[in-house]
Amino acid sequence: MTTEQPTARPAPTRLWCERLVTPVGERRGVLLTLADGRVADLQPVAAPPADVERVAGWTVPGFVDTHGHGGGGHDYATLDVDEARAARAFHRAHGTTTALASLVTADLDTLVAQIGTLAPLVRTGELAGLHLEGPFLSPAKKGAHTESLLVPPTPEAVDRLLEAGDGTLGMVTIAPELPGALAAIARFVAGGVAVAVGHTDGDETDARRALDAGATVATHLFNAMRPIHHREPGPVPVLLADERVVVELIGDGFHLHRDVVAMAVDAAGLDRVALITDAMVATGMPDGGYTLGGLDVVVRHGEARLVEADGSPGSIAGSTLTMAAGFAFLVSLGLSIPGAAHLAASTPARRHGLEGRGTIEVGGAADLCVVDDAGRLQRVLQDGVWV
Ligand SMILES: [Zn+2]
Repeated sequence: MTTEQPTARPAPTRLWCERLVTPVGERRGVLLTLADGRVADLQPVAAPPADVERVAGWTVPGFVDTHGHGGGGHDYATLDVDEARAARAFHRAHGTTTALASLVTADLDTLVAQIGTLAPLVRTGELAGLHLEGPFLSPAKKGAHTESLLVPPTPEAVDRLLEAGDGTLGMVTIAPELPGALAAIARFVAGGVAVAVGHTDGDETDARRALDAGATVATHLFNAMRPIHHREPGPVPVLLADERVVVELIGDGFHLHRDVVAMAVDAAGLDRVALITDAMVATGMPDGGYTLGGLDVVVRHGEARLVEADGSPGSIAGSTLTMAAGFAFLVSLGLSIPGAAHLAASTPARRHGLEGRGTIEVGGAADLCVVDDAGRLQRVLQDGVWV
């Protein structure tokens, strides 16, 4: 692992974990041996050896956030690599040991420049990939994206972004009803980029066609897509039911009612739901005025909304959620700690092909979160180093 590791931070070589969540379930009393940022050994040991650091509570895989725009006052949509690093550091301190950096809609020249800024962080492993949320979105479901910059996914635009990404793009969100969308989905997938259905005004048929063309993710299910009507189901039931899809859910209790989160988890199952933050720059910051993709946003009581022309609050504009808060939210719904770990780590890592992440096993990354019985984050270990 090449993530920067200031030598002042402690890097334990052995940890005794009271309760450990592994791919095969919960184990009590486990001695972890760590080396070179990885889990080198994992053995049942009933009581903590005298010379080994004891980790009380639950040790779960470090969280994997596949959709986030920034935090701590810092934005991934930047030409300043240190700003992107600062956003990454903010979320790492809140449990996100693996992250895709999401970029909102911008003109292609700006997006290409932003990709160029972030791509080195993907190559060093500080980011797991980039997520383009736009510009191939429906104007009718634009959310907090600038309508005048939304464009159809022409082959030229798709190839320009693939070329700029040069292997660092992890995901792109596309509204499948746009002209040329199905060909674009196939082109991105062939280029090694996962395609997410989202910001779509399409119906159930458009969603099915997108999946048949290779799409495998639903961008924040329910938000910025047609709602379910019993005679006009729209994309949600297809995305919930199809085994090829992992559905993103924003677990802040504001974007989605807790009953809807519980229903969606029941419908799709733990292996097909990814907890995401969709966090924006104001995450972890006081209420006040911010921007997202050049649009004015006001944050009140932690809820981010666009500022309309008359000054009133408009569409929801990203979240101020951390993975730590989302994890505790899932536990508050009645999910077990291992169940919540599935949604916050194992499922997004496996579905995005992030090998060695999202599980605690020999050979995998020493990325750990320690939580209490209520799912509240206590400590974070990234690449074998306490954050
Ligand atoms: Zn987003």
